[in-house]
Amino acid sequence: MPCNGWKVSLYLSGKGSTVTAVSKSALISKGLSNKQGASDNAKNSFSLISMKDSGNNPSQNDSKISRMLKELTQLACRSGASDATAISTGDILVEDDLANLCRKPRCESYGLSTSCPPHVSGPSGFRELLKSFKHAIVIKIDVPLKILLSSERGDIMRLLHEIVAGVEQAAVKTGYSSSKAFAGGSCKKIFCHDYEGCRVLTEGGECRNPMHARPSMSGFGINVSKLMQAAGWTMNRYNSETNTDVSSTAPICGLILIG
Ligand code: SF4
Repeated sequence: MPCNGWKVSLYLSGKGSTVTAVSKSALISKGLSNKQGASDNAKNSFSLISMKDSGNNPSQNDSKISRMLKELTQLACRSGASDATAISTGDILVEDDLANLCRKPRCESYGLSTSCPPHVSGPSGFRELLKSFKHAIVIKIDVPLKILLSSERGDIMRLLHEIVAGVEQAAVKTGYSSSKAFAGGSCKKIFCHDYEGCRVLTEGGECRNPMHARPSMSGFGINVSKLMQAAGWTMNRYNSETNTDVSSTAPICGLILIG
């Protein structure tokens, strides 16, 4: 069942306005502006407390985990996702070839932050990490091409990071302290475009956006088409050569490992 709340496309049709007005106003009207991000929204509205303290009863554990996953997906919806669903980590496919695309053909953001290759653990590190997790949540935002192809793309990518980071922080708060979120796009481009370099890489300092910026799934070779399939969503991948209908939408996705 898709999220019932705010969607970029609904906001667009409701406003009948320009791309700039749509995305900026949408973010602000939902309390998701840069000043109050989705993760702040998440912290304020998430209600579960210490759900990991479930004793030794396996069926009680299962129902608590199911309830917690449901609450987290609802939180993603409230924070601006078009849809969110829990999947098994067994459904996450990691491919070396996909991660290699960051290097060849070289992505313009390659090496610019600690969230992208060669500064991340890559497919092998992610496969190792996956061994400690059974549950994950995948989220998507259906974004009108008009926005994806405009300078407003950064706002929506930022929203994606904020939603997954917010869900991760809510899971941590309930006792799932190893939970980890992954988004898309370069955090250097999305959060630190006004700075010459990533502070962690250039100064050995702290990340400027630890509450919001999350690593890109690409650098780990996570197959997003398979994630979408596992979630039961149709992959409507944007192709600039075949799709010129800017009123259509394309999804951007994020992933949170819960554990
Ligand atoms: S300092 Fe900026 S570029 Fe570096 S990891 Fe943090 S958000 Fe990304």
